Amino acid sequence: MKRYSPREKNRQKMINQLGSIDRAHSQTDYRYEPCNESFHCKNCNSFVLPEGAATSHRNHCPKCLSSIHVDITPGDRASLCGGVMEPISVWVRKNGEWAIIHRCRSCGEISSNRIAADDNPTLLMSIAVKPLALPPFPLVLLENAGTTN
Ligand SMILES: [Zn+2]
Ligand SMILES: [Zn+2]
Repeated sequence: MKRYSPREKNRQKMINQLGSIDRAHSQTDYRYEPCNESFHCKNCNSFVLPEGAATSHRNHCPKCLSSIHVDITPGDRASLCGGVMEPISVWVRKNGEWAIIHRCRSCGEISSNRIAADDNPTLLMSIAVKPLALPPFPLVLLENAGTTN
């Protein structure tokens, strides 16, 4: 990593801000409009088409479930990070729908994203059971749990 002086850091910050303002005006606003672009996954290099997701906002690769850190708030494309967001967990919403927790490999940002219809089911399940497969305590403790003597 390159180290910048405080003054240079400020300058970079201003350039970044100007860049995101410029981008906000020149690109489609995906907060309000469907994202129907095909792309090459930056993580596994799969070619991803918008078809098959059953949602108009495909935001991660259906094969490896990774995405790219491009948003500050969903769909705004205002982040200049560009790091790979890896799927670290799965959670279930009130309505029973699954969502993936993504964490950026570059800056550590965490976000939650709806799963798509064609997301890799094996990988989804393996992410969901990972904490159970790797408990932070010996399994023998479970046998003793709940008994008083
Ligand atoms: Zn991928
Ligand atoms: Zn990031």
